[in-house]
Amino acid sequence: MSMFCFQCQETAAGKGCAVRGVCGKTEDIARLQDLLIYSLKGVAEVVTKGGFNAASLSDANHKVLSGLFMTITNANFDGEALTQKIKEILAVRDTLRNSVNIANLHDSAVFTVNSPLEMDEKAAVVGVLSTENEDIRSLREMIIYGLKGMAAYAEHALNIGKEDFEIYAFIYEALSAALDDTLSVDELVALTLKTGEYGVKAMALLDGANTSKYGNPEITTVNIGVKNNPAILISGHDLVDLEQLLIQTKDSGVDVYTHGEMLPAHYYPKLKKYPHLVGNYGGAWWQQLTDFESFKGAILFTTNCIVPPRSEEIRNRIFTTGSAGYPGCVHISADADGKKDFSKVIELAKTLPSPVEIETGSIVGGFAHNQVIALADKVVDAVKSGAIKKFFVMAGCDGRMKNRNYYTEFAKSLPADTIILTAGCAKYRYNKLNLGDIGGIPRVLDAGQCNDSYSLVLIALKLKEAFGLSDINELPLAFNIAWYEQKAVIVLLALLYLGIKNIHLGPTLPGFLSPNVAKVLIENFGISGIDSVENDIKTFMA
Ligand code: SF4
Ligand code: SF4
Repeated sequence: MSMFCFQCQETAAGKGCAVRGVCGKTEDIARLQDLLIYSLKGVAEVVTKGGFNAASLSDANHKVLSGLFMTITNANFDGEALTQKIKEILAVRDTLRNSVNIANLHDSAVFTVNSPLEMDEKAAVVGVLSTENEDIRSLREMIIYGLKGMAAYAEHALNIGKEDFEIYAFIYEALSAALDDTLSVDELVALTLKTGEYGVKAMALLDGANTSKYGNPEITTVNIGVKNNPAILISGHDLVDLEQLLIQTKDSGVDVYTHGEMLPAHYYPKLKKYPHLVGNYGGAWWQQLTDFESFKGAILFTTNCIVPPRSEEIRNRIFTTGSAGYPGCVHISADADGKKDFSKVIELAKTLPSPVEIETGSIVGGFAHNQVIALADKVVDAVKSGAIKKFFVMAGCDGRMKNRNYYTEFAKSLPADTIILTAGCAKYRYNKLNLGDIGGIPRVLDAGQCNDSYSLVLIALKLKEAFGLSDINELPLAFNIAWYEQKAVIVLLALLYLGIKNIHLGPTLPGFLSPNVAKVLIENFGISGIDSVENDIKTFMA
């Protein structure tokens, strides 16, 4: 088998991509990512067995975060960048290892590769399938995918200057545990929940970083039409990149639009103050294939999700930064102070036509925890009066598969006395439907990006307190979550750690769950897949 990857929801036949990724990942890129993960495990082995304190490892911590982030689905397709990252990680590993005397290290901590061929040969034997027991493999991979999501959130917080050494220490602990053949299934299940615990910490860290720098999100109407100026479309999740771009495009005559998961940037007071942040263009990440054709201007990816561009013309308009990368696209790196020079993006944008209008109107969002908690009395009154019967958390991801129409139909079919709480790009399945409001409270409350699922948890905890309940599961609250990639995995593990039961997960259950691990999740947490819209509405409303 030339490659094997089953980390995302779109994995081939729900089991694993073995020839080429559905995402466009080729076998050489898949193998480089496997070797990168193995190298990161080697660093973790040295850190844990060497007794290093994560607080003293600033450079290693940051490189480990970006190494994990680069392997997230749709983040980085650039073989040169991945090769460079492997070399960097091995250099970090070797420097740490040579500074102490540690016996009996795992192969991941000592192997060497001196050529592309040796890298490829090593990669071929250290991937996912190198763990033979399917239950152990399932749990190890679920933990690794959770760590990838956690690393993404921690890196965004780091870009704002916020970090938590306990999170780094846990990443080392969990990465090295994924090498430990003595751990039982029960011990790995416990570590999976601990990964969720640290996922909550990472989301709280990022929430604190974003809100302390850009203010608390507030209810905001976002334009989805276009203006006549040349423009840049910015995608991904990194608010610091967006802020730097807004500063550098000020008074340049170039407008900035958000795409996909960058939409919630409009809700932050210190970002929406820029008049040339003019709107959101298009839909969720996978719609970029058509959205980028009509957008016409320059495009900046700050993180995933990149879809291999259909034409040279589009590829020439794409720039990447941070952990994102695509061969042939200009990558913009930060200087030692974290500053990025986006002048190449801006200069290109000035030479290109303005975007073609594909829709008009607006969408409303900004219902993160601070804003919703400010409305808590109104919400509680509406529940007590019976005006609101139930809340549906429909956070998570969107994706290409046709069966995701389920979420549009589900949203449309929900009774008019229900509210959808959303975060992540799943919202694009229903955020333009005009589902109305209940006494002035919109029926779709968008908290923000996938990491803002943390906001939804805080809102649920506030409701629990307001209703004097002892268990969050007693609330009139149902979870119908859509997942796609590994940031959704850490959100799911965080919800499980917080004790949330009976989550419906779709459009399909993860291919990386072995039958026995799936059984553990079903029996202990009531996790289930989705059925028809009609049957699910009946089940949820019962
Ligand atoms: S990321 Fe998803 S689509 Fe891409 S190779 Fe892995 S499982 Fe397949
Ligand atoms: S919501 Fe899901 S698919 Fe969308 S960017 Fe976040 S993790 Fe990726």
